[in-house]
Amino acid sequence: MGKKLGQHFLHSTAVLDSILIAAGPKAGEPVLEIGPGQGALTERLLETGATIRAVELDANLAEALRKRWGKHEGFQLIEGDVLQLPLTPPELFGNAAPYAVVANLPYYLSTPLLFRLASFREGFSRLVLMLQLEVAQRILASPAEGKAYGSLSIVIQHAFAVSLVRRVPPSAFRPPPKVSSAVLRFTPLQRHLTPEDERRFFHHVKTLFTRRRKRMFSVLKSMYGAASEETMARVVPIVSERRAETLSPEEHLEVFLLLHPEIKEPASSSAVQQPGGIRPQP
Ligand code: SAM
Repeated sequence: MGKKLGQHFLHSTAVLDSILIAAGPKAGEPVLEIGPGQGALTERLLETGATIRAVELDANLAEALRKRWGKHEGFQLIEGDVLQLPLTPPELFGNAAPYAVVANLPYYLSTPLLFRLASFREGFSRLVLMLQLEVAQRILASPAEGKAYGSLSIVIQHAFAVSLVRRVPPSAFRPPPKVSSAVLRFTPLQRHLTPEDERRFFHHVKTLFTRRRKRMFSVLKSMYGAASEETMARVVPIVSERRAETLSPEEHLEVFLLLHPEIKEPASSSAVQQPGGIRPQP
């Protein structure tokens, strides 16, 4: 069970401190913790006086958490799968106030969960997440980073401003994982496409990167076989002979919008932060 659910429990006080400082929960503030496990992070969050909802899939761990904090008025355990959990503030906390998300994530879950978090981002004030270092590098990558840059970078940078809080060595966990980790802080960005159009944009980007080393124009022609020559011609000045992995997140959004003239122009074209490599928070 442990291995399958990515159970590596944090025991480094310095790393717990970094997560708490980056998240900065205030007394009474709503916070969702994903995968509380043995409760190392939960304990520190409860000390701040924040109102915690914690979702844990492992029945034994859930039972132990209920025994420990079941009567704590700031704590509520939800036993189940975070991927099935409704994530809007009213459904989780009973009011519309955005909440913070804090988690030392099981690594098997990070990519599907990040896509889900992006689609629910209006409900969050900020997110502080421990991820596998390699995934963190992919999230923060720009085209200059080569292979690390891909659909995950574009989707997440479209939805959040992201910064590196710190790297974390395997020795910070029990049992230690095989790989290094990193804590990232995510600030939700305003939505410039409707949820449905955004899903289409994410799907467009994921499909493009299945053939990342091909000339992008020929990939687009196969993806948009029904599009008129006039529509396809619009993207030539941007795409030219380039491959998908050389376009910035902003350029990908521009190409998508040119191919979908039925979608209204976004309110501002600065929905995507300037991408950059992995770097410490100022
Ligand atoms: N937060 C604890 C800590 O830092 O020590 C535990 C982190 S451990 C990496 C990940 C936790 O997520 C485990 O307790 C695991 O049981 C739980 N988990 C795994 N998959 C989950 C899912 N789909 N939904 C909710 N919790 C999950």
